[in-house]
Amino acid sequence: MYDAIIVGARVAGSPAAMLLARRGHRVLVLERATFPSDTFSTHFITAPGTALLQRWGALEQLEKRGVPIFDHVLLNVAGNVINTREVFGPTQVCSPRRTDLDVTLRDMAAEAGAEVRMGSSVTEVLFDDAGRATGVRVRDADGNVTEESASVVVGADGRSGIVGRSVNPEPRDEHEIRGSGLYAYFDGFDYVTESAGMLDGAFVFAFPTGPRSACIGTEIDRSHDDAVHADPAAVFYERIAADPDLERRVRAATRNGRWHSGDLQAGWFRHASGQGWALVGDAVCLKDPLLGHGITDSFVGAELLAAAIDEGLSSGNLDAALARYDEALWRHLRPIYEASRDAALSFDKSGDDLFAAFMPAQMLIQEELAMVQAGGPTL
Ligand SMILES: Cc1cc2nc3c(=O)[nH]c(=O)nc-3n(C[C@H](O)[C@H](O)[C@H](O)COP(=O)(O)OP(=O)(O)OC[C@H]3O[C@@H](n4cnc5c(N)ncnc54)[C@H](O)[C@@H]3O)c2cc1C
Repeated sequence: MYDAIIVGARVAGSPAAMLLARRGHRVLVLERATFPSDTFSTHFITAPGTALLQRWGALEQLEKRGVPIFDHVLLNVAGNVINTREVFGPTQVCSPRRTDLDVTLRDMAAEAGAEVRMGSSVTEVLFDDAGRATGVRVRDADGNVTEESASVVVGADGRSGIVGRSVNPEPRDEHEIRGSGLYAYFDGFDYVTESAGMLDGAFVFAFPTGPRSACIGTEIDRSHDDAVHADPAAVFYERIAADPDLERRVRAATRNGRWHSGDLQAGWFRHASGQGWALVGDAVCLKDPLLGHGITDSFVGAELLAAAIDEGLSSGNLDAALARYDEALWRHLRPIYEASRDAALSFDKSGDDLFAAFMPAQMLIQEELAMVQAGGPTL
């Protein structure tokens, strides 16, 4: 019997496992995928998330892997370039590929003492007669099926994960997502730092993932999906043409691999816990990626969840601690969740209007950074 079974080993699951194992708890992590592997995501980690990586000791590991760390972002607002260092002062940010980030966090969870089983797919969440989650049924890579039990089952299994589907939590908020992502990886790309552009009808970005390599793309309104499917390169180059310097540097670089595109359609904030279960990451808070804050939210959630499970197991009142986690998660993530939802209502507008929608959330992100620097999220 484990203290916690965590389903999913990426940016929500591995930090939660690492933080629980560091507190001496017996943790089992079950991950269907094998690493290194990518997910549909564009990698920018905002300053509070980067600060948490530093606190955990992960930023150092990422730097050793060649991930560049910066102290500012260049924002191109309809042709006017803003350096965030001049607005907010220097704040560390980075954009590691998930093949670096998720591997680093998974390895740190294992080093902390969590048992991590890759290629292991949870096929069922088990409940007792009173409706309490008690464990999972899992199939390993060889097809062997076993049952594992724990005091708490954590769904860190993403937006369509089995834990969320099994416990069917009440939504606190649901909304339509208008944005659609289109990006590719490029080698031989000349960059100075992280950059994002609010251009007429499109949000564009170039996020360095390694020495002279970057994830470069655009977010546009979902109504253009047919054009994206027909010719993604044409849509991409048409959008970045409004930033001639970026276009020149992208054309001088070499695309490595295919175009990635898709949309989320719907976002939500769900209740995050119940009898013997908890959700963290996209499983509980799903939103438009415009602000690049899903990874940071997953980290903040992992901090809160580990604190709650630790408190619940120590006090003997796990359900009360998990209920505190549910409220604390909403309190911490709600402002930026609502700002993301409201900023991403439409992409078919001018660069200045996109910037006006984008900026309020940047102020909230600075407040969140101050919270992390002051000791981190609390229950
Ligand atoms: C286009 C796009 C761009 C984005 N860009 C950014 C960005 O720049 N910055 C940012 O911060 N966020 C971004 N996001 C959001 C970010 O990717 C997510 O918030 C983040 O990946 C959520 O992490 P997670 O660990 O909760 O879930 P996931 O990354 O989805 O991981 C869930 C894991 O659970 C595993 N799993 C699922 N089911 C099972 C099962 N039954 N058994 C075992 N394992 C299972 C999966 O294999 C997977 O590895 C973007 C999202 C999209 C769609």
